[in-house]
Amino acid sequence: MLSVGLTGGIGAGKSAVSARLAELGAIVIDSDVLAREVVAPGTDGLAELVATFGDGILTADGTLDRPALGALVFGDDTARRRLESIIHPRVRARSTELAEAAPDDAIVVHDVPLLVESGLAPLYQLVVVVETPEPIRIARLTRDRGMTEDAARARIAAQATDAQRREVADVVLSNAGTHAELISAVDALWERLLRQRG
Ligand code: ATP
Repeated sequence: MLSVGLTGGIGAGKSAVSARLAELGAIVIDSDVLAREVVAPGTDGLAELVATFGDGILTADGTLDRPALGALVFGDDTARRRLESIIHPRVRARSTELAEAAPDDAIVVHDVPLLVESGLAPLYQLVVVVETPEPIRIARLTRDRGMTEDAARARIAAQATDAQRREVADVVLSNAGTHAELISAVDALWERLLRQRG
């Protein structure tokens, strides 16, 4: 198995890269998806969140009220760390479980938005960073996600910088061009991954 960590700042194009890698045959494990699964109704993750933050973080139908939780931890580092100490270990455990279930010859790509911020680079044989200049990311996020420019800037400022991501990158994929250009770059990366896997 070859274990690859994929990261990049918000709006850089991780989803586009991981979708292409999945088409090519990679097994993609998406941390954002797992982070939702580990606090789904009936999980011990959700129970621990409620024990920590109160049942004001639940909607009427018993699911997690993300905006309410977001408001509780916004600007409160202690609360945010408590939240992360509930979510992150569960996401890591579930990713390990999924990776272990993959076939021996699999190329497993872990899509981890906060890989650099969480110091997780040593877990992977290869770290791939998707990098896109900030003005282009802001334009895409405001155009496609309905974010305001200020919100996009604030999210970018709260994350690691391109320089910090580059420090741990084995491969930097630029996504400043067209979607077709990105696909060609991912196809070339796939050839490299196949060679590295052997
Ligand atoms: P997040 O951190 O929020 O998960 P992401 O890194 O996964 O973001 P994407 O969702 O892949 O980023 O891309 C951000 C937005 O930019 C999307 O709406 C996507 O369709 C668009 N986009 C990505 N790559 C390109 C491209 N080369 N040309 C035009 N638009 C693009």
